[in-house]
Amino acid sequence: MSARILDGKALATEVRARIADDVARLTAEHGVRPGLAAVIVGDDPASQVYVGMKHRASEAAGMRSEQHVLPADTAQEDLESLVRQLNDDDAVDGILVQLPLPDHLDSRAVQELIVPAKDVDALNPYTAGRLAIGDPTFLSCTPYGVLELLAHAGVETSGANVVIVGRSNLVGRPLSVMLTLKGRDATVTLAHSRTRDLAGVCRGADVIVAAAGQIGLVTADMVRPGAVVIDVGTNRGEDGKLVGDVAFDEVAEVAGAITPVPGGVGPMTVTMLLQNTLEAARARRGLPQR
Ligand code: NDP
Repeated sequence: MSARILDGKALATEVRARIADDVARLTAEHGVRPGLAAVIVGDDPASQVYVGMKHRASEAAGMRSEQHVLPADTAQEDLESLVRQLNDDDAVDGILVQLPLPDHLDSRAVQELIVPAKDVDALNPYTAGRLAIGDPTFLSCTPYGVLELLAHAGVETSGANVVIVGRSNLVGRPLSVMLTLKGRDATVTLAHSRTRDLAGVCRGADVIVAAAGQIGLVTADMVRPGAVVIDVGTNRGEDGKLVGDVAFDEVAEVAGAITPVPGGVGPMTVTMLLQNTLEAARARRGLPQR
C-alpha cells in the first residue's frame, strides 16, 4: 500500500477534546452548558445506533443531551408540536431530527420548522439557501467533516479538481457548494447515476469524494496516481461488516491518501454536530465564535 491513511477517528478524538475544553470554558465563564436535543421516531435500529452515538459524544464533551423517542405511529402534528417546544426551550441550542422518519411523516416540513439558530444538522432549506449564496451558516455535518479531514491532511482545495460521486441533499450537493465557495476555490464535478463515463471523470480528479452508497464503486483504474480519496459510503457488506464505496485495498495502491471505512468520515460527522452545537450555544447568546 502506498497511500497515506487519513485517520478520521484520531482527528475526531483531537477535535472533540478541543470542543470539550471550549464547552468547559463556556460553562465556567458564562454559565452556559450547550444543549443538544435529538428526536427519534420509531424503532429503526440504525437510527437508534446513530442517536446513541451522538448522545454519548455530546455528554462526553460536557454538553447537555436529551433524547425524545416517539412511537412509530406518531402524528405529524405531534412531531411538529415537539419541534416547536424545542424551538422555544432556552436550554436547547441544537435540534436534530433523526432521519429517516416513518413514511407517513413529512420530513421536509419538520426540517423547515426547526429555527435556523438551532439547525445544527443544517437540513432546513433556509440554512441550505444561505450556504448556497455564501452567507455564514451551519454546515451540514458530513460535508463539514470531509472539509476538516482535507484541511487537516494539508490538501489544498484551491484550484483542485474535485469529483464528488453522489448528489444528495445530505452529502454530495452541500459539499459541492462548500468546496466552490470563495476561500476553498475548488473546481467541482458533481457526479451521479446518470454521469457518462464516471471512470474517466474520476481520473481527472485531484480529489475524489465517494458518497453514492454503492459498495466497491470506486476502483483503482478510476483513480489518478497520487489523488486523494475520501470515502463517505457506509454500507453493510454480505458479512454484515461496514464497508465504503471505495475498493479500499486496490485504490490504496494508487491513491496518495485515502480514508478508511470505518474510522474515516463517520467519526467526523458526529464531531461536527458537536461543533455546530457549540457554535449555536455561543451565537444564541451573542458570544463571539473562537
Ligand atoms: P443517497 O442514496 O441519498 O444518494 C446517493 C447518490 O449517489 C445519488 O445522487 C445517486 O445518483 C448517486 N449514485 C448512486 N449510485 C451511483 C452510481 N453507480 N454511480 C454514480 N452515482 C451513483 O445517499 P446519501 O447521500 O444519503 O448517502 C451516500 C452514502 O453515504 C451512503 O452509503 C450513506 O450510508 C453514507 N453516509 C455516510 C455518512 C457518514 O457519516 N459517514 C453520513 C451520511 C451518509 P442519483 O441522484 O442519480 O440517484
